[in-house]
Amino acid sequence: MTVMPHWLSKQSFLQPDKSAVEYKDGSFVTFRELERRSKEMAGVLYNMGVREKDHVAILSPNDPSFMEIVYGLSYLGARVVLLNVRLTSQELLYQVNDAEASLLLFEPSQSDKVESLREELQVVSFSDLEGKATVPGLKEEIDLDEVFTMMYTSGTTGNPKAVLHTYGNHWFSAISSALNLGLTQDDKWLLNLPVFHISGFSTLMKNVIYGMTIEFHESFEEDEVLRSMKERGVTMISGVSVMLERLIDVVAKEDIPSSFRCFLLGGGPATKHLLERAQDKNIPVFQTYGMTETTSQIATLAPQDAVRKLGSAGKALATASLYIEAEKGYVGEIMVAGPMVSEGYYKKERRQGRFFATGDMGYLDEEGFLYVSGRKKEMIISGGENIYPAEIENVLAGVEGVEEIAVAGVSDETWGEVPAAFVSGRNVKREAIISRCKHGLARYKHPAYIFRVPQLPRNASNKVLKRRLVEMVEAGDLDELE
Ligand code: ATP
Ligand code: MG
Repeated sequence: MTVMPHWLSKQSFLQPDKSAVEYKDGSFVTFRELERRSKEMAGVLYNMGVREKDHVAILSPNDPSFMEIVYGLSYLGARVVLLNVRLTSQELLYQVNDAEASLLLFEPSQSDKVESLREELQVVSFSDLEGKATVPGLKEEIDLDEVFTMMYTSGTTGNPKAVLHTYGNHWFSAISSALNLGLTQDDKWLLNLPVFHISGFSTLMKNVIYGMTIEFHESFEEDEVLRSMKERGVTMISGVSVMLERLIDVVAKEDIPSSFRCFLLGGGPATKHLLERAQDKNIPVFQTYGMTETTSQIATLAPQDAVRKLGSAGKALATASLYIEAEKGYVGEIMVAGPMVSEGYYKKERRQGRFFATGDMGYLDEEGFLYVSGRKKEMIISGGENIYPAEIENVLAGVEGVEEIAVAGVSDETWGEVPAAFVSGRNVKREAIISRCKHGLARYKHPAYIFRVPQLPRNASNKVLKRRLVEMVEAGDLDELE
């Protein structure tokens, strides 16, 4: 058992007047104020019946009260179940039952969706969390072995599963990231990723573990990101590739101030084309690899290696280990270990042994840099050859007129499976894609079909839902590009 002072209480003691959370309009909340509000919230929640180890679900977009509620629950020793606001009532029902939540707290914009859940559990709006109260016995200490959050995976490849995160997982994730990226008193992290996913939530943890100011946005808006960098001193941001893409579109090289030092890019593969465009615009991109189960990033590539190792996700962080389940230099499943790796899923599989099998395939180059090939489940086996969609996506990403591209396997009588490309973009031409394939890809990797889509279907973490694309093909809903 490893015990330490509660992170928020500690920062409130160390730097009470430093702003913990800042907003676009210039308003802010100090660490002392955040602690005070969170403890009051703990009182309110206690009076509603919340006790230690209770499972309390939260359904909220990025809302300023989110932090007070999460830390309020933490001061009571309750476990926080994070729900995705894009879920339907039916999916929410599954998750609150699966997580055995006894109470659901929702942000008022979500009220329609929770109506049908009232029969299942106590449901309370954020706007009804009132009545200042102080209660004795708040948890001023954190036991790193205790479960803090339960967070569902994105559900990109199947049903989402509730990943258990201990305080220790969050602690080591934040610390390992700082050992890699460094940390200064002037650092300010922009948070605009959803807080119910580990990508956004991990920034909240850095906020209270480092005592670092964050700027909190409801959602991603490229113009606001630029303004935050230029006018409000934001030095770091984490994001996914669509966000980087949109930012690149609005910035000029001179726009990026020298104080801005890190765009932490994760959540999925990034094409070489995108990374090169970021370089042209002087955006320092740190490409990362990680997942809900590893409490966000577990491997990271620094910008100084970005050119030399373009497309790599770097090396495992200081406290983490990583190997490939294959002979040296070959592609195999990525295996990871470290104190940020979750024990497993609530009521489902638990990790056996030290290493977690990620379900992702990749290889290490001779210097030990990780290259992620793609998901095991999305690998296309065509006539006995393994094809990774990302390789084809990389080649086709820069083709003129292509806005978005995804590749997935569709069944085929002769080959078992063949790659199909899905493209959006009004001015994209079939010949341009075919000609690029001829130059850049072995024959068996050429997409057998090129479908046009208005836009790619994505989940709440902006990941392309390839299952959905394949279903659309099977249902005959898509036309081939002309
Ligand atoms: P589910 O597990 O429910 O199918 P998910 O895996 O998309 O959903 P997350 O935990 O949000 O849920 O995503 C982690 C996954 O994202 C990784 O396992 C990997 O497949 C992909 N990913 C993350 N970083 C990279 C990267 N740098 N390159 C390629 N893929 C990545
Ligand atoms: Mg996963």
